[in-house]
Amino acid sequence: MKYQIPKGLFDILPISKEAFKETDKWQYLESVINKLAKDYNFEEIRIPIFEKTELFIRGVGQTSDIASKELYTFLDKANRSMSLRPEGTASIMRAFIENSYQQNSKLTKFYYMGPMFRYDRPQKGRYRQHHQFGVEVIGDNSYEIDAEVIDMLMNLFKRLELKNLKLLINSIGDIECRKNFKIALKNFLKPNFEKLSEDSKIRFETNPLRILDSKEKCDQEILKSAPSILDFLSNDEKNHFEKLLNLLDTLKISYEVNDKLVRGLDYYDNCVFEVVTESQGAQNSLGGGGRYNSLLKSLSGPDLPGIGFACGLERILQTMIDQEVYFPDKKGPYLFIIPACERAKEFAIILTKDLRHHKIPTEIDLHAKKIQKSLQLANKIKASNVLILADNEMDSKKAEFKNLDTREQIAVEFENLKSFITDKYYNIGKKNV
Ligand code: AMP
Repeated sequence: MKYQIPKGLFDILPISKEAFKETDKWQYLESVINKLAKDYNFEEIRIPIFEKTELFIRGVGQTSDIASKELYTFLDKANRSMSLRPEGTASIMRAFIENSYQQNSKLTKFYYMGPMFRYDRPQKGRYRQHHQFGVEVIGDNSYEIDAEVIDMLMNLFKRLELKNLKLLINSIGDIECRKNFKIALKNFLKPNFEKLSEDSKIRFETNPLRILDSKEKCDQEILKSAPSILDFLSNDEKNHFEKLLNLLDTLKISYEVNDKLVRGLDYYDNCVFEVVTESQGAQNSLGGGGRYNSLLKSLSGPDLPGIGFACGLERILQTMIDQEVYFPDKKGPYLFIIPACERAKEFAIILTKDLRHHKIPTEIDLHAKKIQKSLQLANKIKASNVLILADNEMDSKKAEFKNLDTREQIAVEFENLKSFITDKYYNIGKKNV
């Protein structure tokens, strides 16, 4: 039987046919994210890959696509319903509550990175296992925090040198405001009900707000003259939103207010935002988030406000590749040792071990025969230098050390070999810091 990876999943490999599935690109993106999180004083939280199903149903909201259609759910051996995590926020709230985290500080700033699972129809930019980077800030309801979180997301894209992105922003008020708006929206849609897409007809009852961000042309045509949720905000909410937009202006963060942006998850209230690109066809959302002031309380936790975002690493990488942005060059080992005769082998193995113990990235060609072939291999794995140990070198007790970039070559006495390589490596290392 030939085993194949399940549909909608993919491997991340050192060499892959698709550039966005290459390990070094992921590592680069992850390093930029870790540095970004440090610069904004966010600390990492690691949550489990699966949780009790009811957490996601309660957390994400029963009517959201994620909870109603896309959960990977299974029964464990004790017949308890478990689900693979479809997103991070619900688990983070559970962890916050369970660990009484509010006792540690007034303001909590978490970030996370890792795989999420959604049973959806796979296509370019949409996978059944995808990876997210996200943040959650708990304990502050100020518009300044909203701006900090939005700036952080936009700064990530700036550091990655992405272009042609649009920040969409909206306020969807609180539950009361949305209740009134839902009535107005349904009244508006009722006469046009038959013209709505099939999905929107279902959502008319289950989650009418989601009709607003339908991608279907027929829905969009009808929605052109729909009531705006911004007209239903309370004075406080209006004030908060206006101050946030003013601060974004001051911080020179460009945005577009889009009163149809509601986001897929049920837990948001007040400000919501999304960053979109034109280069990905239908799956053009790189990331998004919003405020969730009642989520913790609804999960039986403290009455604390929160705001967060999540962005998809696959889509970010794909956009970086499409836009041909900078990726650091892939680096191979510092030294590639070629024991080109049988009697050099043991000497080379001991040297390799010693250098590795000195933290010098070293590879050895255990099956070296022809020096030319080994040199090709060294180039292929992008080694910086080679050390040749053939019959001549064993007779003269001098190894040939060759820099593959400059082609400079030097004969080094065996007894000085270790200190020569170590000195060279660490001097270069210092220059590169
Ligand atoms: P969401 O939790 O739906 O707001 O998703 C946050 C981000 O994760 C989105 O903006 C996408 O970039 C990414 N994302 C969501 N679902 C998928 C998926 N099925 N495949 C790839 N990326 C996804």
